[in-house]
Amino acid sequence: MLDFDTIAAISTPLGEGAIAIVRLSGTEAVSIANRLYDGRDLDVVDSHTMHYGRVIDPNTEEMIEEVMVSVMRAPKTFTREDVVEINCHGGLASVNRLLELTLELGARLAEPGEFTKRAFLNGRIDLSQAEAVMDLIRAKTDKAMNVAVKQLDGKLSKLIERLRQDLIETVAQVEVNIDYPEYDDVEDMTKELMLSRTKSVYQEIERLLEMAKQGKILREGISTAIIGRPNVGKSSLMNALVQENKAIVTEIPGTTRDVIEEYVNVRGVPLRLVDTAGIRDTEDIVEKIGVERSRQVLKEADLILLVLNHNERLTDQDRQLFDLVSDLGLIVLINKTDLDQQLDYDEVYQLSQGHPVITTSLIEEAGIDHLEEAIANTFFDGQIEADDLSYVSNVRHIQLLKQALGSLEDATSAIHDDMPMDLIQIDVTRTWELLGEIIGDTVEDSLIDQLFSQFCLGK
Ligand code: GDP
Ligand code: ZN
Repeated sequence: MLDFDTIAAISTPLGEGAIAIVRLSGTEAVSIANRLYDGRDLDVVDSHTMHYGRVIDPNTEEMIEEVMVSVMRAPKTFTREDVVEINCHGGLASVNRLLELTLELGARLAEPGEFTKRAFLNGRIDLSQAEAVMDLIRAKTDKAMNVAVKQLDGKLSKLIERLRQDLIETVAQVEVNIDYPEYDDVEDMTKELMLSRTKSVYQEIERLLEMAKQGKILREGISTAIIGRPNVGKSSLMNALVQENKAIVTEIPGTTRDVIEEYVNVRGVPLRLVDTAGIRDTEDIVEKIGVERSRQVLKEADLILLVLNHNERLTDQDRQLFDLVSDLGLIVLINKTDLDQQLDYDEVYQLSQGHPVITTSLIEEAGIDHLEEAIANTFFDGQIEADDLSYVSNVRHIQLLKQALGSLEDATSAIHDDMPMDLIQIDVTRTWELLGEIIGDTVEDSLIDQLFSQFCLGK
């Protein structure tokens, strides 16, 4: 294990939490805690035990806080170092005082992400798991949480390891074939082998990237805009979605900008009801900002719910809206089916160009389930429950996977072009390296520093 100094930080969100934790990690963790703690002798207590006591300022003998102290000795800890967690009841002033005391007694204030960085450097977790910790902190919905938990579990790492294994074995096999040719057509056979192995790895990476798309949706929510002419029922739709699926207001603790966003959870799919640039309720968006600008604004949404009125004929304004959104993620909603039909459905289907068309009577609360089904199908091909999938949810991973695909493509076309085997092997080895970067096998130090600095303090 690597030898580090002892670090300390407040590892719960700053603010009015009921409990705050000051976390120490490093060889001095227990002795520092012991010197400010009045209770049992922490040097001799069993590992992974928790103790009640008081924190006393050693300089003034003043009582600071009643606390619960957990002692966890290396190596079975998050950082693989000795870890002490001092739990106290909130109160910013006393938590800060407690942290200061640990610093006075020789601990160093941890940099953002430093606990997780140590876990990584001490071999406790690999890089994709470290990043999962970060995602976990930020996860907004249960599903997104599952993705992060799975990644933390090492599922992605295992898959990546297997793909790398396939590649390196292929390279090795090729070496053997070339060095010890058993048959005359060894050249052709080797290329066949190379082609089929790279193809299967290629397909697996493609599958991962497809899941990455879903992972992104899960983490960030589907930004959704409800549009339509005045009075068709946009606000009613918004209310129905919010009531039916209780809006989730998420506070993301511990991040520098504590974002508050409004989410609606539709069958596990987080809809982010977009409230920027006024695209949430766009009755006269076109009039206000013009066609081109509207197109731009709407493009930023992942999903457009275009509401029409069953009780009225289509107007030019409706047709104009169709024109704005026809190439986007679109669900058409025909509302007010409790009233007389005036709408020409044939024209609606034609304008919808294969996008789902749902009928509702929001006033009678009818049809909302069909809408929800359509939303789930649009984004997950109805497969959202298939939770054995190990999603990739990290921009850096996605970037590397795309590069890996690129170098596999190079390898494949080199094979088709009858290039020398050496050159093909370079591409395959490059793919192996790129995949290695995902799990931190071939990453440079600077990248590691940069990654961990994105964590919030105390993690
Ligand atoms: P918006 O202007 O598009 O936001 O439309 P609203 O949601 O404010 O609805 C306009 C009016 O239509 C309100 O009086 C609603 O009560 C009514 N409305 C909404 N949905 C229905 C429906 O399904 N059937 C009927 N008959 N009225 C509806
Ligand atoms: Zn409205």
